[in-house]
Amino acid sequence: MLVLALLLTAASLAYALAQLSIWATIAFLLGVALGGLWLVFVYLPAFDPFGMTLVRVAMPGNRVALSFDDGPSAHTEAVLDLLATHQAKATFFFLGQKANARPELVARARNEGHALGNHGFSHRKLHRLNAAEIRAELEAGATAIGELATVRGRRLLRAPHGFKSLTLIKILKQQGYWLTAWSAGVWDSDCPGAEVIAKRALKVLKPGCILLLHDGAGATDADRSQTVVALTTILEAGKQRGYQFVTLPELFDIPHA
Ligand SMILES: [Zn+2]
Repeated sequence: MLVLALLLTAASLAYALAQLSIWATIAFLLGVALGGLWLVFVYLPAFDPFGMTLVRVAMPGNRVALSFDDGPSAHTEAVLDLLATHQAKATFFFLGQKANARPELVARARNEGHALGNHGFSHRKLHRLNAAEIRAELEAGATAIGELATVRGRRLLRAPHGFKSLTLIKILKQQGYWLTAWSAGVWDSDCPGAEVIAKRALKVLKPGCILLLHDGAGATDADRSQTVVALTTILEAGKQRGYQFVTLPELFDIPHA
């Protein structure tokens, strides 16, 4: 049914184009291409022609980076316990308003050698905000979290959902931030079951990879116990593969063997 609908759409589009002059056709196709490029830029975190985004490191070595978004929450303590047990380091993109509610977990993550990044204050989608609103989100997030980790002198920001805009890119340049995308997500936020999360993670986990996980849920405090259970499997299997779980500054800044 979908194929038939697509074929019909393509056929009617081709017919409409055939009625236009060559210049109108070129203008139309150019418009479609530019619109497509714009959508990809805004909604695809890893696509950034401005070079302001960290995605992955493609080089030999055994380092992988776990990153956790949307905390600190009631589940962050269990995540920190597991990381400590496995001598693994990670990067936490905390939300300012949650950091204010659980400052002891922010301090613990920092003291235990994990890297802290900014995820904004209230999980507002930054691509929809004007410059003043973006600055306010970043500043309030940074104030609540405290000192942020840096890669090559720039602080780390993960935009909610990874959505971006030209205004955001401009502000990140001014304020010395990297946008931090991810090389693989496993949709743990949909709670598909701990086994599914672990299986997806182990399929995509490769040296140089930034894996996206969640110790919170947007601005709310949903159940993340599946992610916690999956993390045990991920850490154990990763160790068997000889992987070293490092922070993003360690992944990007330390030369690889
Ligand atoms: Zn988020």
